[in-house]
Amino acid sequence: MSTLNGRAVAGAHFRAFPFPVFALYPAPTYRDAVSSNNTSSIQAWSPQEAEDYYGFRRWGANHFTVDNSGCLCVHPMGDQRQIRILDIIEEAAQMGITPPFTIRVQDMLRQRVIQLNEAFCAAIRDEGYDGRYRGVFPTKVNQLREVVEEILDAGEKYDFGLEAGSKPELIIALALLENKNALLICNGYKDDEYIRLALLGRRLGKQTIIVIEQLSEIDAIIRLSKEMGVEPHIGLRVKLTTTGEGKWAESTGENAKFGLSASGIVSAVRKLQNARMSEALRLVHFHIGSQVPNISTIKKAVTEAAHYYCELARLGFPMGMLDVGGGLGVDYDGSRSNYESSMNYSMEVYARDIIANVKTVCEQHGVETPDIISESGRALVAPHSILIFEAVDRISREVEDATPLRGKLQPIGEQMKDIYKNKSHLDSLERFHDAKQKKEEANSLFNLGYLHLDERAEVDRLFWLICREIRNKLPAIGEIPDELAELEKLLAEQYVCNFSVFQSLLDHWALDQLFPIAPIHRLNEKPTVPATLVDITCDSDGKVSAFIDLEDIKSTLNLHPLQAHKHYYLGAFLVGAYQDIMGDLHNLFGRVSEAHVFLEDDEEDGFYIEETINGSTTDRILGMIQYDADDLCRMLKRQIDRATRADEVRPREGVAMLEMYEKLIRSKTYLVPAAPDDKRRRGSRKSAGK
Ligand SMILES: *Cc1c(COP(=O)(O)O)cnc(C)c1O
Repeated sequence: MSTLNGRAVAGAHFRAFPFPVFALYPAPTYRDAVSSNNTSSIQAWSPQEAEDYYGFRRWGANHFTVDNSGCLCVHPMGDQRQIRILDIIEEAAQMGITPPFTIRVQDMLRQRVIQLNEAFCAAIRDEGYDGRYRGVFPTKVNQLREVVEEILDAGEKYDFGLEAGSKPELIIALALLENKNALLICNGYKDDEYIRLALLGRRLGKQTIIVIEQLSEIDAIIRLSKEMGVEPHIGLRVKLTTTGEGKWAESTGENAKFGLSASGIVSAVRKLQNARMSEALRLVHFHIGSQVPNISTIKKAVTEAAHYYCELARLGFPMGMLDVGGGLGVDYDGSRSNYESSMNYSMEVYARDIIANVKTVCEQHGVETPDIISESGRALVAPHSILIFEAVDRISREVEDATPLRGKLQPIGEQMKDIYKNKSHLDSLERFHDAKQKKEEANSLFNLGYLHLDERAEVDRLFWLICREIRNKLPAIGEIPDELAELEKLLAEQYVCNFSVFQSLLDHWALDQLFPIAPIHRLNEKPTVPATLVDITCDSDGKVSAFIDLEDIKSTLNLHPLQAHKHYYLGAFLVGAYQDIMGDLHNLFGRVSEAHVFLEDDEEDGFYIEETINGSTTDRILGMIQYDADDLCRMLKRQIDRATRADEVRPREGVAMLEMYEKLIRSKTYLVPAAPDDKRRRGSRKSAGK
């Protein structure tokens, strides 16, 4: 371990030449140096305390509990049947899947589909509503085949359909959706090919509905349906004046990208009448943006759209369907509030308010109530997916690791020592200001060449000790000056985690969206280390330093001290919507592996892994940016051959080098654990240097 500038860097061997690489698993070490905090005794923690702190019960509804061994368990159906997440990790390892990977709890996905449909069925029953619920899954939220198939299978008996927002998505939907009673809603920008594809669906007897988002699409549909001799079913997307709240509020309002204004609707209707295609108009559609936190926004939007619906029905169009789009939220922080990462309503309230408001407006107009369609994506798929990743290292400012400098220091050092001893009993804020000033002075002296490295390091060490003392003395409650409140963040450890925010938690980076994050084991030990997470990309934005909290946002998350030769697994939860599919290849870190888990009463652990998907290998990622793996190997071989001929590299070593390169180009992109046996690793590293 090296300590420089009071900042300890533990276990730097990831940057060392990894020769040879042992990809064996389980490999109970990732590091040979460990947090200094693990010397403090472990304090026991109860499942209740763990659930409270990480919020498992709040955001997880009845799907997550902590057992007596301190392990997090998932309850796929929300009943007493549970699976220990650690068991899944062990089982997956047997199948060659190691973190980072995604656990898909398939039963949870089914359960959400059923819950949504049942919520609408109950609302329809209770309100005495004359019309059906005919939901569709918006594929853009997660197009993965296993996800879409599971949803269709679970939704079969409700005639649950699909929504497509692009040609590729429509291509998926046309092939997968065979139920002729289910809807296939076609949204998004459309060219002639898109429209032809949708009309092809109609020819096959599918309930394809083309939703007009731009006026120009009407002309194309009229032209192409005549050309193909197909009677289309058409919907109109209205641009509501009701604007949402939250991060996606711009999906509506006068300047929204999609939809027709009142005058646009009037023009569209005229065009249809002139083309003698009035029969085609079946549906009114709106979408006010994703993750709507406030139920009153939804009520307002539904009411506005219902008026559009009724006006069109009164003009004599067949109509029959009102599509309320997406927006049904997920309570990421479990606060049940109208804060943007939460929602102040349940799925059941959502369904009831939609049904009740549509009914009221229809009664007012004397219009028959339509079937209700929702395009709820996030709410269906977010909960089923858990990202498992491992903390492999830490970057800390902890100062116990640094050795104090003995003897008399230069004046600046002695002054810092005095502040540390605090003989003059300054109050915390004053002491902090003095220490900060001295640290800045020391930096200047160093930059001018008047202070040596070891003395500067000592000043830094004392500074961080002072900060720590001040932080530890802060009162648990009451007013704390802003600067001192910041200390918590300043002193937090950074846990280095083997994953990429840009691949697996894109919205956290792009939109500051919060996700619940928690360790999935050791929950019977009190977590004593306030930490933030950094990923393994070389991007300072690749980090998580905002965490869910009941009020506001936490800037650090309490975690457990890392232990030598032991894995430390964390989970990011509710990541099944968008995150699973939008990730990018920053630093060329590819898609993570997956394990698809099902409940199984006959199995010992109560579950089985039906399928695993291997994460992207380097050669595949390189192929996407025009590198051919064979070419690269040939290019390196040429250089090795040259070095061998020049006697710079011995032939045997050259062969080993090329073998390693060829092997790694076919391996996954994330970090691989170091071999468990330290001696073996050191030994081989030495021999590599011979
Ligand atoms: C993205 C989108 C959805 C899905 O919204 P969620 O909030 O995830 O349910 C539904 N409909 C349309 C038109 C969309 O663009």
